[in-house]
Amino acid sequence: MTSVTPKLELRELGNTGLKLSCVGFGASPLGNVFGAVTDDEANAAVREAFRRGINFFDTSPYYGGTLSEKILGKALKALGVPRNEYVVATKCGRYTEGFDFSADRVTRSIEESLERLQLDYVDILYCHDIEFGSLDQIVKETIPALQKIKESGKTRFIGITGLPLHIYTYVLDRVPPGSVDVILSYCHYCINDSTLEDIIPYLKSKGVGIVNASPLAMGLLTESGPPEWHPASPELKSACQAAATYCKEKRKSIAKLAMQYSLLNKEITSVLVGMKSVKQVEENVAAATDLAASGIDEAALAEVEAIIKPVKNQSWPSGIQQS
Ligand code: NAD
Repeated sequence: MTSVTPKLELRELGNTGLKLSCVGFGASPLGNVFGAVTDDEANAAVREAFRRGINFFDTSPYYGGTLSEKILGKALKALGVPRNEYVVATKCGRYTEGFDFSADRVTRSIEESLERLQLDYVDILYCHDIEFGSLDQIVKETIPALQKIKESGKTRFIGITGLPLHIYTYVLDRVPPGSVDVILSYCHYCINDSTLEDIIPYLKSKGVGIVNASPLAMGLLTESGPPEWHPASPELKSACQAAATYCKEKRKSIAKLAMQYSLLNKEITSVLVGMKSVKQVEENVAAATDLAASGIDEAALAEVEAIIKPVKNQSWPSGIQQS
């Protein structure tokens, strides 16, 4: 394998001691969530990512009904590098069949994930999209079960993920200090929504590491636009499309601007972007290295922010009514 000196910045993740590349590899596209991907394309994307300094890979049994875990596992194995050179996160509790955050299910889940990933352990095991379960069950049953999994050595750290930001304060205020190591928030630190910023001081006070996923707002901030299933309102979709058209006309890349916007905040350890091709890996790594070398295009950002302003911080409902 030809080696390239990693140029990507590494940032510490909370109190874990892990150092993650500031750009992380979101593997949901490897589950064909954003269109079909061949094994060869997936392998090449993972290989190129690692070669360019990305050391953080995120998946879930939910992505493509376990396909993403299998494809990622194969691609990581094919790298042929020592296990401690990359960080792998997977999730539990959300499956194509539905949600199940019971201790029994999540305990079986990690075994199944490790088998699909062909690994002995993962670095982070998250409860996936907890707003769809009872938050009290997460606190009283799921996180204690994950603690046991941690003690068994099958995961090194524990996390929680989900869309509404109140889930983080709800859970972190109720679990023993140090029992949740990391949170993964998505679609809340991108050009069209920066509300994650409001809870960063709180998360830091709890010693919790912060991963920000979906800097491209799950495709809203790309030239080709979001997939069919995207939950944004028509107004949000059309504002983002107008911003993308503006960038195209000015021969600028909306995706690059969006990546750079998310990378600017160094309190966020890693920006997880979904990737399915070598080209996307190259572009997203270049967004980070160009940012470090010459900063963000302030004028283009100001124009895009002005276009998006009427819908800024607009989100969409996610989860169940908590009793
Ligand atoms: P994203 O904002 O990263 O957008 C992904 C889309 O953008 C895909 O269609 C991808 O092909 C495309 N893309 C990537 N790079 C591009 C480029 N340079 N130019 C044009 N298009 C580009 O959304 P995401 O994939 O949903 O989020 C990133 C990752 O974060 C996921 O893969 C997943 O691992 C994780 N995630 C987790 C949760 C959760 O736990 N609840 C939720 C969302 C995302």
